[in-house]
Amino acid sequence: MIRYLEVYTQKRTHFEDITAEIREIVSQSGIEEGICYIYIPHTTAGVFINENADPDVKWDVEQTLEKLVPWEDGYKHIEGNAAAHIKSILVGTSASIPIHKGKLMLGTWQGIFFAEFDGPRTRKVIVKIIED
Ligand code: ZN
Repeated sequence: MIRYLEVYTQKRTHFEDITAEIREIVSQSGIEEGICYIYIPHTTAGVFINENADPDVKWDVEQTLEKLVPWEDGYKHIEGNAAAHIKSILVGTSASIPIHKGKLMLGTWQGIFFAEFDGPRTRKVIVKIIED
């Protein structure tokens, strides 16, 4: 089973919590045991799993990535968004979460975030549910 989510980002860098949407897809699939595989088909965006209880964590991650990979740093890429490509590589473009008894096995404090690094844009998230 495959599903798509659309994410509309408003800023250059933006982390969107997509946990509720992914849980809904898993629930609708009716699959009790398997894997939820999330894939981002973009070169300047990504996906990560981390704390969604305290919004300051998101802010800290964004600020730290900004320090590690500043927007301007003598890059050669002519499109001017080399920093976004590098951040996409650092964060990664996929995540896999086990499904058990029909539910995602996320930890209590874990959420799934779509990570925009070159917004604003309309983005696609691919969600593949694999039954075992
Ligand atoms: Zn580029």
